[in-house]
Amino acid sequence: MVKDFFSKLIPTELFKGMALTGGYLFRRKETVQYPEQRVEPKDRFRGMFGYDVDRCIDCSLCAKACPIDIIFIADHTEVEEIDGKKKKKKIIDRYDIDVKRCMFCGLCEEACPTEPKSIWLTTKTYETATYERNDGLYFTKERLMNWDGVLPFPGVVPPDKGQLPDDPTGRKARESQAGDQG
Ligand code: SF4
Ligand code: SF4
Repeated sequence: MVKDFFSKLIPTELFKGMALTGGYLFRRKETVQYPEQRVEPKDRFRGMFGYDVDRCIDCSLCAKACPIDIIFIADHTEVEEIDGKKKKKKIIDRYDIDVKRCMFCGLCEEACPTEPKSIWLTTKTYETATYERNDGLYFTKERLMNWDGVLPFPGVVPPDKGQLPDDPTGRKARESQAGDQG
């Protein structure tokens, strides 16, 4: 009874709320002034796809691993003569990903057997906004490599300019170079 009386007289809950709010005044600010500032995604972040047609061995394991079948691969075989010997060579005609349907599970990347991976999502890049999602978010192999219509995260180059799957900003390479020299 007395407790109820004093709790009505002194608004302790209000002070608790104000103390909590006040505490945030002195904490590090999480807000950034986008797009002038950008928060760098973690290394494991899955965003825009990277693809390297030269590394790709056309095994289709990525397409088979995709649970919603949005990777489309088509190829043809050519015969080439090397040192007088005829060799069959697969040519990739089509490697498309319907990114607007993607759930970024990363199973395609996991299934890819090449080292480094030929398909990867750890690009730190997420700015793929478009006014028309059917065409804009349907990526052919050319667009997966040159990132036409994609704004790369600062410091990241498109795959056809030499981006590496596990080091999109080139930081690890620079650090290991500095370590070797030091
Ligand atoms: S990340 Fe996208 S394309 Fe890759 S397996 Fe998952 S749903 Fe398919
Ligand atoms: S799993 Fe890798 S190597 Fe095989 S087709 Fe897909 S991207 Fe190419």
